Amino acid sequence: MSSETLKNLIRPDIADMAPYTPIVPFDVLSQRLGIPAEDIIKLDANENPYGPSPRVYQALADETYYHIYPDPDSTLLRQALSQYTGIDATHIVAGHGADELIDLLIRLFIAPGDAVINCPPTFGMYRFDTELNGGRIIDIERKEDFSLDIEKIVEIVNSSSNIKILFVTSPNNPDGGMLGDACLRQLLQLPLIVVLDEAYIEFAGGSRADWVLEHENLIVLRTFSKWAGLAGLRVGYGIFPHWILSHLLKIKQPYNVNLAGATAALASLSDLCHLQENVEKIVEERERLYQGLREFDFLEPYPSHANFILARVINRDAAALKAMLAERGILIRYFDTPRLHNHVRISVGTPSQTSVLLKTLSTL
Ligand SMILES: *Cc1c(COP(=O)(O)O)cnc(C)c1O
Repeated sequence: MSSETLKNLIRPDIADMAPYTPIVPFDVLSQRLGIPAEDIIKLDANENPYGPSPRVYQALADETYYHIYPDPDSTLLRQALSQYTGIDATHIVAGHGADELIDLLIRLFIAPGDAVINCPPTFGMYRFDTELNGGRIIDIERKEDFSLDIEKIVEIVNSSSNIKILFVTSPNNPDGGMLGDACLRQLLQLPLIVVLDEAYIEFAGGSRADWVLEHENLIVLRTFSKWAGLAGLRVGYGIFPHWILSHLLKIKQPYNVNLAGATAALASLSDLCHLQENVEKIVEERERLYQGLREFDFLEPYPSHANFILARVINRDAAALKAMLAERGILIRYFDTPRLHNHVRISVGTPSQTSVLLKTLSTL
């Protein structure tokens, strides 16, 4: 039988889906440009330029049980996370990145036709997982200053049915702005689940993880990818009300967190001083990058509370700017959505990376 005939076996909604635009992997790009991988300045995915704690490498080398399936409950990791967050371990679930928990939450709440409120511009996975799971996305655009349009959210929730989840992000990716306490409190009054994504909270401070204890409709998501430099090992976690957690555990793959990820996350939590110093360096560097970008008359950066800076490109083409930097081994993120027309997002690197970036920008 031909693949043309067999193609009808694919779920029609997935058959019709636009293909994923693959990113050029780091090592492939290094080959293509003839620049050694360690000399590429990768500021396009909000990764941590300092990498993991040295204890992570030691712990991974010392681990001897790689032939045994990992603990489905991630017991030791959840205990350590309880120390780190101050929240009882019975409220914590670990995941294969925060991304896995976003997918699981949508599967838990969204039946075909149910809706998720998304507040773009924001992280893309809320939309991706909702659509993949047969849910409806209701986009409520952020205001000019990237704050949430609370009145519009309230109005939509009050006038529609089957809205189950609202995703909010603080600091928000890509602008780095925060969601204030009063706004969050207002959103928690709504009859839906509020998922607060705190992937970048270590760069900002002021986690609302403990609010989960007082709000049966709040979930807080966190990750080791950004502050702890473990993006490649995929470890995230969520703080959940007990009633949600008990259902979530029914649909979680038992071995979702692999042993390397759990080992690395535990080693990270045992080396907080070191990792927090790196976070402080990044926060300091963020201010230097912001001031440096402001010097260019073709860039208008927005103040950020995360480890990246969004900037509007003025009077020149952002895509071309990104391409020129890439040719010189500097990778930044470019957006071409209507709302982020001609914007770029630059992750905060090391001081020497910032220097090279600013120097290169001055030649373009
Ligand atoms: C990077 C990012 C994540 C992904 O976290 P992982 O733990 O790496 O899956 C989640 N949310 C936001 C807003 C992010 O920017």
